[in-house]
Amino acid sequence: MKNDILVQDSNQKKMGKAIKIAVAKGDGIGPEIMTATLHILKAAGANIEPEFIDLGEQVYLSGNTAGINKESWDIIRRNKLILKAPVTTPQGKGYKSLNVTLRKSLGLYANVRPVSSLYPFVTTNFPKMDVVIIRENEEDLYAGIEHQQTRDVVQCLKLITRPGCERIVRYAFEYAKAYGRKKVTCMVKDNIMKLTDGLFHQVFKKISVEYPTIESESQIIDIGSAKLAAHPENYDVIVTSNLYGDIISDIAAEIAGSVGLAGSANIGANVAMFEAIHGSAPDIAGQHIANPSGLINAAILMLAHVGQLEIADTIKNALLATIEDGYHTADIYQKNTSKKKVSTQEFANKVISRL
Ligand code: NAD
Repeated sequence: MKNDILVQDSNQKKMGKAIKIAVAKGDGIGPEIMTATLHILKAAGANIEPEFIDLGEQVYLSGNTAGINKESWDIIRRNKLILKAPVTTPQGKGYKSLNVTLRKSLGLYANVRPVSSLYPFVTTNFPKMDVVIIRENEEDLYAGIEHQQTRDVVQCLKLITRPGCERIVRYAFEYAKAYGRKKVTCMVKDNIMKLTDGLFHQVFKKISVEYPTIESESQIIDIGSAKLAAHPENYDVIVTSNLYGDIISDIAAEIAGSVGLAGSANIGANVAMFEAIHGSAPDIAGQHIANPSGLINAAILMLAHVGQLEIADTIKNALLATIEDGYHTADIYQKNTSKKKVSTQEFANKVISRL
């Protein structure tokens, strides 16, 4: 496969061997935001070497129903790190979600989604918002057990396990401890799903006792999401199950300014995958107007994960400076707060000039 961007440059040689990462350009806006992100990584001197993998729509359309070929799996299993742009999954029909396949096959049990306000540079009603959503990533209604019972009855199994709950709840408290966060909020609906969500809540209560310096609280997911949307500044770390976490993290990112801003880490015992939280945005694909910030933030999380903290910091500062200076893609552009509406690549160039 053609490696059209080699991120490592000569200055990096002294830093030791470059870390190989599997890079998936994805579908829709994926290739546009990935190109922009890789340009920034290269300019910042990230000590990484991308190996491009094919997955998603084109692979499905070529007749591979898994949406990913053996060569890509081999690269992923060898490198154990993935930087992935969003892929398209058809609604209500067609092939299975490749995202779910990757998360389950690679044991990526924790989905970490930090969302914070960039006020006053990005318009939001919530200047003090700074929340991290930690979503269980393998179980729940996304376990992929869905059946046609009869013509008129369909069934989806909600799978929750004690080890799964323990692992994600402990991850959330350990995350809070490591990053100096003060509170972990559990959100499930155990007033209705007494066994499945009940187990999650029970495990949360048990594990929270082991972390006396971190405040813990529980909310039922419906009122919890309403309160998150109305007063996000009251939340710090939220731990929840797969489906709820997917929904509330999109809400959180959108009310912070745009779903295009947030990045995420999918963490497993052996493999980690980094991606924007949003999808492939087919409505704006090919227009070069997508905000690459979500994927850039994902790449920053990846650099931090592999210990390239200084470069991660440099890119984060340049990203924030670009947004502060008012260079905004269409999703966050506002006449009164923005200086210029920029394309995806123009935005990346502004970030590069601030490194
Ligand atoms: P989406 O997140 O792709 O788009 C929702 C809205 O947000 C659209 O109006 C889009 O234009 C806008 N948007 C998203 N990202 C943006 C960005 N970076 N800059 C500017 N605007 C942005 O959600 P959708 O339309 O529901 O899903 C489209 C496809 O993406 C579906 O096939 C879905 O399955 C897939 N998807 C993939 C992932 C993933 O690969 N991790 C995640 C979510 C959805």
